[in-house]
Amino acid sequence: MISVSDARDALLQLTREMEIEHVPLAQAAGRVLAQEVSARRDQPPFSASAMDGYAVKAAEVELHAMFQVIGEAAAGHSFDGELRPGQAVRIFTGAPVPRGADFVVIQEDVDRKKELITILSDPGPSSNIRPRGGDFHSGDSLAAPRILRPADLALLASMNIAEVPVRRRPIVALISTGDELVMPGGIPGPDQIIASNTFGLKAMLEDFGAEARILPIAADTEAALRMAFSLTAGADLVVTIGGASVGDHDLVAKVAGDLGMDRSFYKVAMRPGKPLMAGRLGGTPMVGLPGNPVSAMVCGHVFLWPMIQTMLGFRQPAPKIMTARLSHEISANGPRQHYMRAEISAAGDLTVFSNQDSSLLSVLSTANALVIRPPNDPAHAPGDMLSYIEI
Ligand code: AMP
Ligand code: MG
Repeated sequence: MISVSDARDALLQLTREMEIEHVPLAQAAGRVLAQEVSARRDQPPFSASAMDGYAVKAAEVELHAMFQVIGEAAAGHSFDGELRPGQAVRIFTGAPVPRGADFVVIQEDVDRKKELITILSDPGPSSNIRPRGGDFHSGDSLAAPRILRPADLALLASMNIAEVPVRRRPIVALISTGDELVMPGGIPGPDQIIASNTFGLKAMLEDFGAEARILPIAADTEAALRMAFSLTAGADLVVTIGGASVGDHDLVAKVAGDLGMDRSFYKVAMRPGKPLMAGRLGGTPMVGLPGNPVSAMVCGHVFLWPMIQTMLGFRQPAPKIMTARLSHEISANGPRQHYMRAEISAAGDLTVFSNQDSSLLSVLSTANALVIRPPNDPAHAPGDMLSYIEI
């Protein structure tokens, strides 16, 4: 049995970065930027008015000063001339500031009579001009790797980047195993249950940035498992669910071994999720998750997340570990690292659920945190700070 951190290291050893592909900006949301990209222009590309008003010379701005309006500049339509002393150009937000002007008096501070304006309120110190390149300059860059958020896409667009280099989404093949499993919507026999964590894991993997494919459920026979493995061609990661412990019907290790799996480890000192195995099968990393729904999902957070991160180009991915105040007593932990289902209230108080059975999806669904208890962590009292990850 190896520690959680050794298991994580071994899993990262198995994974490699996906190649780079170029996608149109409109399809790049949530993708991982693979290479630094640089602005193709200054933004704004000219000094621009930030307000509707009148462009004048700053040196001439004072209460009761008068100017003659000689033309207009609107967004997309610059004033084609140069401002001389005593002159003003009617200007609108986003318009280029005319040559010779270096101040915009907002229209609210001005009285206009025909082509004559008079400043009637103190315009204050702000020139109301956005300088050329005030947002970014040509050549300024967005660093990679980075998950592209909506604001990043707006930034890339204004940099005039139409196609973005991103990491290909890793393809994950999900194999559920067990004679007792039926797909949701199917008609279960009296001794059957519905395959559940398969769908939780698919959603989780997609949330992590992967593309997950659910393969047909494999029955608990060697032939069925071999057939399932044969359907994984093209996957970047194969994940089996169930059949990984040491029962008579737990055949994943046996069949994967027969198919030539190069095993990196089997069994991790954690709760839930002890019967986790991993290795390389025909050059593709393979992870065998325990079947218990909560175990499989917890292993997804703890192990599949850093694998997918690595595949997407993040080096040494570290989960965001936070701390919160415990609201009640909890007893000492045993010798395995324990990921306890818990709830953080809006006020930040932490409640660890009393029933930690690894089959209870209702508890997992209520939980919004996994409290991380190191091996042999002592008992805790209300007010103690505990570490957790958000789920
Ligand atoms: P196993 O690891 O195959 O011994 O499975 C452990 C427990 O998890 C058993 O109660 C299985 O019925 C259950 N189980 C296995 N796979 C799934 C699945 N995909 N969805 C829901 N429960 C499962
Ligand atoms: Mg099974």
